[in-house]
Amino acid sequence: MKRLRTEALVLRTLDFGESDRIVHLLTRNGGRMVAIAKGAKRSVKRFPGALDLFNFLRIEAVQPRNASMARLEGATLLSSFGALRCDTRRYAMGCYLLELFNRLAPEGGAWADSRALFDFAREALGWVELRQPDPRMRVLLELRTLDALGLCPELRNCVRCGSPLKADTPVVQFQVAEGGPHCGACSAKNDAGLSVHLGTLRTLEQSLRLDLPRLDRLGLSGRSLDQAAVLVSRFERFHVGLELRSAAFLHRVLHPDVSTAA
Ligand SMILES: [Zn+2]
Repeated sequence: MKRLRTEALVLRTLDFGESDRIVHLLTRNGGRMVAIAKGAKRSVKRFPGALDLFNFLRIEAVQPRNASMARLEGATLLSSFGALRCDTRRYAMGCYLLELFNRLAPEGGAWADSRALFDFAREALGWVELRQPDPRMRVLLELRTLDALGLCPELRNCVRCGSPLKADTPVVQFQVAEGGPHCGACSAKNDAGLSVHLGTLRTLEQSLRLDLPRLDRLGLSGRSLDQAAVLVSRFERFHVGLELRSAAFLHRVLHPDVSTAA
């Protein structure tokens, strides 16, 4: 039996039976984890107001040998990101990020990677709490989340031959399944992908190097924003393998003038 004491972010909760709750967590020391909180609906002593979405906790859990699910022994609330629950856009953006982490974060893994991903998750939700989400923020935050998950697309070089993309080919073909663009020479020999301006890729690449609050200063609008949104969403969909449950809700609140989901 393995015992774990760590910080954790609540990604999803499900009632189980009359008194238990199943909790999906992103932990600082062990990646994603699914745990059962026995008697959670009755015990305010072991789980005092802790097992809600967006909550950051200090937890104690045990992983019984040969069991698929850990057992949550106790949880203490560290912070709750209350602003995410009081505003529709922030709530939708936050739920979408939680679902991405829940779908794509690895279980276990290297300690340094788990810690970096956990710290990013906390920083990202903190940014959403401070700033009203819009389509631009969504694209940049999704890309940063994919990067934190180790799934960032290639944005600088041709994925087929490795050559740096050059300004003499201002529109390149991004191949979603290959995870990056083709240069002019490789595009001529292969099927067309998603047409993207080089400037859009350059802006996305630049966004990966900035602290989250500084992304506000990055110019991404109009055609570039539209291209970036399609590129990032198709790449993300390729890795997730299905439409996230919270995607339609997020699209609706960020584009209230459009009636159908993208
Ligand atoms: Zn090439």
